[in-house]
Amino acid sequence: MSKVLLISTGGTITMVRQNKVQGEKGNTNGEGPLVPADMETFKAFMPELFAGSIMVEIESFHPLIDSSDIGPSSWRQIAQIIYDRYDEYDGFVVLHGTDTMSYSASALSFMLENLSKPVVFTGSQLPVGVLRSDAKENLLTAIEIAAAKDEEGNAIVPEVTIYFEDQLFRANRTTKRNAEHFSAFNSYNYPPLAKAGVHITYLPHLVHYSDPSAPLILHTNFDTHVAVLKLFPGIQPAVVRALLHIRGLKGVVLETFGAGNAPTDQWLYRELKAAVERGIIIVNKTQCNTGSVEMGLYAVSLNLMKAGVLSGYDITTEALLTKMMLLLGEQPENAKEMITKDICGEMTVNE
Ligand code: ASP
Repeated sequence: MSKVLLISTGGTITMVRQNKVQGEKGNTNGEGPLVPADMETFKAFMPELFAGSIMVEIESFHPLIDSSDIGPSSWRQIAQIIYDRYDEYDGFVVLHGTDTMSYSASALSFMLENLSKPVVFTGSQLPVGVLRSDAKENLLTAIEIAAAKDEEGNAIVPEVTIYFEDQLFRANRTTKRNAEHFSAFNSYNYPPLAKAGVHITYLPHLVHYSDPSAPLILHTNFDTHVAVLKLFPGIQPAVVRALLHIRGLKGVVLETFGAGNAPTDQWLYRELKAAVERGIIIVNKTQCNTGSVEMGLYAVSLNLMKAGVLSGYDITTEALLTKMMLLLGEQPENAKEMITKDICGEMTVNE
């Protein structure tokens, strides 16, 4: 019998509606807010969890939390559970709120070096107790994917992934795209690794495999001295200057236009160049969801190259930020070189 460990952090999937506090306004429907319940309440809604052919065990955060409250210390907690219990299970499912799921799942993909078992993140847009909820399908299929093996007994998708609304994505390629529809995530620059209908169709040629004989290595040191600088027409020198002079700043995700373009103002060039000379790693990430940074394609990106800004190619902001924090924390001396390398399928480097 396959064994899967379900790690529950919280999120909408585990939530119930709190009674409105007397005298308070409530939401637009006059109701109280959604808050995480506890795993006993959750399990009562999900008897199917223990009725299938896969043995499911649960490890839960106490208390369960909304994913807006998840960051590096929770990422460490999730990764440590997987690392400590790695040999006991065929795969892992992480229940997580959708709001920051792409950040957490991207972080985990960099933290778990040589991963050779599935780690599938999932959640839902409606709480498990709501009749029309997407919780059951998402969770039960995620468990099946976490346990799935080929004829030789090897995991079919031994990566960190997100399963949501019929599609399995490489985690570090995802972005939350929708706060309303059930299909909350997309992977704009990489195809899904599996699709679920009556059958689950896997696409193994798209999967990233680590050497199964290499031991799992856990990386947990994040350096959070990073920032995102989103360019916009009319951006003022004072804004850029203030951000680039934050004390202790080590890395910047520079969100640019189109194929990685920026205004050609000399002040911008000088600020970026000076920051790079102070040792700050600046990586160019396009504001477009689909497509890649291609510095040099347009004249308006030449200054960025001259200033020493690095290309983020087609990486997501979620993957770039978490990768940057982990590289700065784990191997600061190599961070600049490693940030432009593909570590586990998070970007397509096209030189
Ligand atoms: N606010 C919730 C969370 O991220 C949203 C969700 O789970 O869909 O925890």
